[in-house]
Amino acid sequence: MRFELTILGSGSALPTSNRNTTAQVLNVLERFFLIDCGEGTQHQLRKFKVSFNHINHILISHLHGDHFFGLFGLISSMALVGRDRALNIFGPPELKHLLQTVLKPQFEKTPFPINFHPLNQQSPDVIYEDKVLTVTAFPLKHTVPVWGFLFKEKPRLRKINPVKISEYNISIPEIQYIKNGAHIERNNQIISNEELTHDPLPPRSYAFMTDTLFSRQHRDLLMKTDLIYHEATFLHENISLARKTTHTTARQAGIFARETQIKHLLTGHFSPRYKNESLFETESREEFKYATAARDGDIIIWPYNQQKAFQLIRGNDQWELLINPFQK
Ligand SMILES: [Zn+2]
Repeated sequence: MRFELTILGSGSALPTSNRNTTAQVLNVLERFFLIDCGEGTQHQLRKFKVSFNHINHILISHLHGDHFFGLFGLISSMALVGRDRALNIFGPPELKHLLQTVLKPQFEKTPFPINFHPLNQQSPDVIYEDKVLTVTAFPLKHTVPVWGFLFKEKPRLRKINPVKISEYNISIPEIQYIKNGAHIERNNQIISNEELTHDPLPPRSYAFMTDTLFSRQHRDLLMKTDLIYHEATFLHENISLARKTTHTTARQAGIFARETQIKHLLTGHFSPRYKNESLFETESREEFKYATAARDGDIIIWPYNQQKAFQLIRGNDQWELLINPFQK
């Protein structure tokens, strides 16, 4: 029942020796979503041991090179290793033409189908849904059209109390109805669903927000999301530069996290002008204590039981992330 995020690139604009441009993989119950695909993402996938054959969905937030230049190489490599399964790509409409133009000299037709899903939502809208999960795209504010993504598990079925199965001699078809919230009848009496079941564990959620000017526009949509990855390209001392380039500061990301009452904030998309990400972490924590500055290779594991902590795996170390207690 995994819900797990791997950071493949946590830097902005220019790749550096220890920080690649934006890309990350979210695994929700073995559905692998690649979110953005900066140059060199396929190397990062190999380095951090995520098989790119698992990836069936790629979401591209916007058409700045540090978020999508790796897509062409990745698709080419997928073809070279014999992929035949369809690949779903979500991105700004112009990306379709770019893909066709760049890939055509090598492949008259890629050996696997590419299903392109244009993003043009002017307000939050579901772009992907299956029986366990929805993905909602929402517009952010940047120099070009850009979307954030909210991943949300669907509410789980109610948990049946096993003692009641024998007590009321409940049949297998009835169990399914009860898990969906139904009452049953015995000896002309209604046995309420509350008596037969326990509340299910709450659904897990994740939101990706980059690149964007600081904005409260989607505060309600993202209220009480478990974890948000928010860009923090600059420190607050460079607020005018952040405004000019339509980016956010580490302090503003902290304010957004506090106001949305999330459990934990992960910041990234750091400008290479700063040498140490701990500066971002310190600044965000002045607004919201439960903040971590991402590093390439970080793995964040959601607990199955929401009362427990998130785990962060960083290199050979592993520890629990502090959780906003107001959201437990
Ligand atoms: Zn950008």
